[in-house]
Amino acid sequence: MEPWDSADLDRAAECLARARYVIALTGAGLSVESGIPPFRGPGGLWTRHGEPPLDGYQRFLSDPRRAWEERLNPNGPMRELWEALAAARPNPGHQALVELEELGLLRCTITQNVDDLHRAAGSTRLLEIHGNATLIRCIVCVARFPREGIDFAELPPRCPHCRGILKSDTVSFGEPIPPDVLERCFEEAEQADCMLVAGTSATVYPAAQFPVSIHQRGGDLIEVNPYESDITPLCRVALRGAGGELLPQLVERVRRM
Ligand SMILES: [Zn+2]
Repeated sequence: MEPWDSADLDRAAECLARARYVIALTGAGLSVESGIPPFRGPGGLWTRHGEPPLDGYQRFLSDPRRAWEERLNPNGPMRELWEALAAARPNPGHQALVELEELGLLRCTITQNVDDLHRAAGSTRLLEIHGNATLIRCIVCVARFPREGIDFAELPPRCPHCRGILKSDTVSFGEPIPPDVLERCFEEAEQADCMLVAGTSATVYPAAQFPVSIHQRGGDLIEVNPYESDITPLCRVALRGAGGELLPQLVERVRRM
């Protein structure tokens, strides 16, 4: 027997269909299904290799040249991560969210993932709250550039607009969430009366506060996750299973409504 039942999927589809403004929050679980190792938990990169320093951003600022040398010649867990990122492709869970967007139902996807898979699948209303590993960001003017267009002959690379130091767009430990993205996340969460939470236990702030605030305002939360999480008790419907399996079934039901 499946860990979810058909009636729960129907209830989740009804929630989505009757909502005025649906947004999604996604996390590592969705990436794991595309072959990207998780950071924490069993088999996680940091579980096996130890947590990275919590002052990564301060280290970058104090010696950006060295930080870039390490990034361009990664070893250990970072090499493993970069290889997995390069090989990863979107899965049916990513595609299902694109379909919900095309149906005019999903207004925005806030993701904690940095792997570019939502964009590769075709999501256009996307907020990458922890950045995007394929982009480089200026720490002064916040302009973003594709990594392949940047000249790494001299380190650290400099912003073509303002000569500020360039850093990976991926948000480091100790680094504030870029204010442009964070502001838009808050705006979307304030509008939403329904949130689809997929592949995340939603425990890392600031992302964790979005479902809680939507719930407090009377909105519906729908969880798609193999495991119970802290937000499960707040959810209208909690579907236990893989996003790649459940999200397409959810879209199928929404289409039939
Ligand atoms: Zn700049």
